[in-house]
Amino acid sequence: MTILEMKQAVLDYSKQSYEEKLFAGTSGNLSMRDPETGLVAITPGSIAYPTMTIDDVMVITLDGKIVEGFHNPSSEWKMHTEIYKNRNDVHAVVHTHSPYATGFAVTHDRIPVILIEMMFFLYGDVPVAEYRIPGSAELGTEALKVLHNRTACLLANHGVLAIGPNLDRAHIRAVYTEDAAKICTQAKIIGTVHEMSKDEQNKMRRKMGIPEE
Ligand SMILES: [Zn+2]
Repeated sequence: MTILEMKQAVLDYSKQSYEEKLFAGTSGNLSMRDPETGLVAITPGSIAYPTMTIDDVMVITLDGKIVEGFHNPSSEWKMHTEIYKNRNDVHAVVHTHSPYATGFAVTHDRIPVILIEMMFFLYGDVPVAEYRIPGSAELGTEALKVLHNRTACLLANHGVLAIGPNLDRAHIRAVYTEDAAKICTQAKIIGTVHEMSKDEQNKMRRKMGIPEE
């Protein structure tokens, strides 16, 4: 993939996430890493999504050196690069403050496994990573601690982090995290939430070829 193609993908998924209301205002950020060069295309800080163009997308090294672009990279670039440095299988990171999932991040409650889609897209529940100050690499460090055999997590009092081998996967995982949180919130209003049993979860993990728990 060329740098131009990477920047286009970052732009396209940013605008899509904004339209889907996963991003509000200028919050939220996403990035992808080129497996060959290690360069990271990432959203710029504080640029409105509706008017964002391909030239606004930043390209940085894993150490934050600017390779292309005229802005600052997202203020959360250290969280993104911390994940890339520690996970060779991850090449895309999507970070949102989507409202229903962030509700769980505020109460420090994991999102339980309430839907079969959660197994396919998230590999189980959505755990909560401990609070760390915004803009720090430690946000990524804490997320990595709970992202074992999971594809998304909540950042305490902050938002959502979804990872994947590409932007398509990381983005859809952020979508399903918000969807699960929304349905779980609705279910709590109606009555008792019943989590899928560990046994049923593991039957699906076996089918999917991922480690049982
Ligand atoms: Zn954030």
